[in-house]
Amino acid sequence: MKDRYGRDINYLRISLTENCNLKCIYCLPEDFLPKNLDEKKILSTKNVFDICTVAKELGINKVRLTGGEPLLRKDIVEIISGIKNIGIDNINLTTNGILLADKVKFLKDAGLTGINISLDTLSEKQFESITRGGKLSKVIAGIERAYELGLDIKINSVIIKNINENAIKDLAKITIEKSIDVRFIELMPVGQGKNFVGIKNEDIYNLLQNLFQFDEKYFEAKGVSKYYKLKNSKGKIGFISPINSCFCESCNKIRITSDGNIKKCLNMTGHTNIKKYLDENLDKEIIKKILQNEIFGKPEKHLFGKENSDEEIKNMNQIGG
Ligand code: SAM
Repeated sequence: MKDRYGRDINYLRISLTENCNLKCIYCLPEDFLPKNLDEKKILSTKNVFDICTVAKELGINKVRLTGGEPLLRKDIVEIISGIKNIGIDNINLTTNGILLADKVKFLKDAGLTGINISLDTLSEKQFESITRGGKLSKVIAGIERAYELGLDIKINSVIIKNINENAIKDLAKITIEKSIDVRFIELMPVGQGKNFVGIKNEDIYNLLQNLFQFDEKYFEAKGVSKYYKLKNSKGKIGFISPINSCFCESCNKIRITSDGNIKKCLNMTGHTNIKKYLDENLDKEIIKKILQNEIFGKPEKHLFGKENSDEEIKNMNQIGG
C-alpha cells in the first residue's frame, strides 16, 4: 500500500528478540541483561503469522527477520516456513552469523531467500574486541555454508573512526572472488551508536577508488542502497548512507519490534503496540486497519541529529536494526 507521501510500502521488518549473543560496542550496552525468551511480552510464533497475514493483504511482499539475534529463537525455522505458507516468498534474515553454520540448511529448506550478515572486520582480534568476545571463525563458517547453499548473501559493515577503518579494504575484497555483496552502512546516532563517530560513506568510496579499479559502467540504485562494482568482481559494493545522503524518499519499510511496537521510522518512537490487540484476538480486519494506519502515517523523513521530541531512545538491538 502507499503511505501518505505516495511511497509504496512493501517491506516489513520484524524483530524477534532483543537478546543477542554478541555485544557490539556501538549496539548493545555492556551491562545489557537478556530477557526471558518465553516471556509473554515477546511476539509469539502465532503473533508473527497473524501480523504477516494482514501485512500481505496490505501489499507487503518482503519480510526481514531481525533482532537482537533472530537465530536465538528456537522457533526460527517454524517462523520462516509459516511466513512462506502465508504466501510471502521473499523472506530474509539479518544475523551476526555466529549460529548460522549449523542452522542455515534448515532455514533455507524452510523458505529463507536471503541473508544479511553483519561483519565489521576480517581480523579475529578486532572482531573479538568490537563484539566483546565473539569468534570470527564461526561467522566465516556460517557465510561459507550459506554460500555453498546458494543463498543470496549480503555482508553489512559499519565503519567507525579509530575502531575499524583498516577493515574497509579486506571487506571490499570479498566481492572480487565471491558473488557476495558488501554494503557499508553509516553509523547512526542511535543508542550506543551515539558514543562513536562513524565514517562517511563518501570517504569510504573515495578510499576504495584509490585502492581498486572500479567497473565504470556499473551503477545501480536499489531501495536505500547504491551499488558499484570493482572491475571483474563477482559481488557488488553497496553504500547505505542514512546520515550523509537522506534516503527516506525511497523508504519502503515498516518495522515491528519484538514486543510488538509498530515503528513508522527507525529513529522515531513507536506508539502503537500490535501485540496487545493480537493477544486480545481482535478481529483480523481491525488488526489490518491498525497496521494500515501506521503505514499510512509514516513520516516524510527521519530526523537524525535534529531536535526531535519523538526521537527513539532505545538501542539498536531493541529497535531491530
Ligand atoms: N544480530 C543481528 C546482526 O548482527 O545482524 C541483527 C540485529 S543488529 C541490531 C542489525 C544491524 O544493526 C547490524 O548490522 C549492526 O551492525 C547494525 N547496527 C547496530 N547499531 C547501529 C548503529 N548505531 N548504526 C548503524 N548500524 C547499527
